[in-house]
Amino acid sequence: MFAPTQRTLLRNRTLPLRTIQSLTIFRLQSTLNSSAAAAISSSSPSPPSQEVVSKDAEAPLAALPVTSLLRSLLLHSISSSPRVLKLGTKVMLANLNTMDKNFLLKLAVDKTFYAQFCAGATAAEIASTIENLRSLGYGGVILSYVREAEITDTSASTELQNIKQWLEGSLKTIQYVDPRDYVAVKYSGAGSSCLPLLSQHKKCFNHPELGASLIKICEAAKERGVKLLIDAEQALIQDGVHGWTLELMRRFNTKENAVVYNTYQMYLKSTPEILCRHLEVARREGFTLGVKLVRGAYIGSDPRELIHDTKADTDQAYDEAIRLMLTGSPKSAPEWSSVDSSKSFFDGPVQKILGAEKNKAKVDLVIACHNRESIDMAVALRRTMPAQECGVGRLVFAQLLGMADELSLGLVAQGAKKAQAQSDFDIEVYKYAVWGTTQECVRYLLRRAEENKDAVGRSIEHRTAVMKEVWRRIRGG
Ligand SMILES: Cc1cc2nc3c(=O)[nH]c(=O)nc-3n(C[C@H](O)[C@H](O)[C@H](O)COP(=O)(O)OP(=O)(O)OC[C@H]3O[C@@H](n4cnc5c(N)ncnc54)[C@H](O)[C@@H]3O)c2cc1C
Repeated sequence: MFAPTQRTLLRNRTLPLRTIQSLTIFRLQSTLNSSAAAAISSSSPSPPSQEVVSKDAEAPLAALPVTSLLRSLLLHSISSSPRVLKLGTKVMLANLNTMDKNFLLKLAVDKTFYAQFCAGATAAEIASTIENLRSLGYGGVILSYVREAEITDTSASTELQNIKQWLEGSLKTIQYVDPRDYVAVKYSGAGSSCLPLLSQHKKCFNHPELGASLIKICEAAKERGVKLLIDAEQALIQDGVHGWTLELMRRFNTKENAVVYNTYQMYLKSTPEILCRHLEVARREGFTLGVKLVRGAYIGSDPRELIHDTKADTDQAYDEAIRLMLTGSPKSAPEWSSVDSSKSFFDGPVQKILGAEKNKAKVDLVIACHNRESIDMAVALRRTMPAQECGVGRLVFAQLLGMADELSLGLVAQGAKKAQAQSDFDIEVYKYAVWGTTQECVRYLLRRAEENKDAVGRSIEHRTAVMKEVWRRIRGG
């Protein structure tokens, strides 16, 4: 992945842990005297300056550079102030297509939102971000090309051009990551030609260029040992997304492992049935089902009646899906959990489709969430479940780059402890990052700012963790 010169440079940057810690404390003490804004001076993305692995569960953010901590505090303050967020959003929307030409605005976005949430725009920047993540102890990266196709122009030549750019972007992304890393792909990124096919449940192969491009992407991923995560999208096209992805899983996943993963949005009332159906197909046809579990990101635009009535219901459905994968049953047997779930969203689908209340398919699982309770439950289940009874092969936890670092690095620390104890259960933690120019990333960045605003509880948890780490360093801890 890296050129020999890059590797040498990275190696030469390595310092003993104690030296790095004292340098970090020195930098923090001097920076805290000046304003937070002045401290946000790291260029984007941050260089792989540390080979420190955060193995301290008590201080999970210990390995993050001070610039990153302060930037994170600043961005959470912006997101939690409705007036500032509204103004910032307005300015960014007004410059949506001219960001790269507006020097001052681009500089401000680059040093804040872009540096926090994006992997970079060039191969070297992306490689540096990935190396930085690995040095923090992460398993690696889930990388996605951020460019969204312009779907206002539906002429045949533009449609073909959009598919071509999407194919090239996806193939480049596969080359940027290492084997065992993940690449996230959104079908709608290919442009307007896929939307009618998806919404009318027609096969992707009905469009020769689109079908051929998808096969090329899957083949390239398989050849390189990279995993493909197909993103879940709006409910209007999601049934079509499930159909295409199931077909790709049939073709590319083997009995031993998954190359292609489907995403299941547990906030949708219909998902338990879809998930059970896919588990049954995988069991019957003998391939590993790739499952990425999310709650769902389109609550603002998907029809409300399709979504669980309350957040508690979504949480229950999400945790039941984890249990179904890890233990074979959505219900919490007393030995696996203290929570009693007598009523399950999976009751009907499990009885109707899986039978005998057990999932028997082999699954490779990505638990993509920032919810501490769900993650703790999954870790506890995986620890206590005898390996031969667990239907999950590879289990990976994933959070977005720039978000919930205290959670991600806490998991990394737990994983390091397990490794020391030579347990056969690895905790693999990955960060999801997009790549592209500042202009290409603007819409993604606006979504992240909005998400931080909505997740008030999580923001408070994050701010508290960052402040705790700042005080720990001031005290010389
Ligand atoms: C690595 C990664 C990949 C992702 N990929 C996708 C993807 O492909 N497609 C996609 O749609 N999302 C995706 N997401 C976003 C995800 O769906 C969630 O929006 C986000 O992670 C927040 O949910 P949570 O589980 O982390 O935590 P939480 O903060 O515990 O849950 C918030 C979520 O709960 C649900 N919710 C909130 N209020 C209510 C309510 N009143 N009633 C019912 N449900 C409610 C919503 O889904 C909301 O997003 C991804 C997230 C990550 C970390």
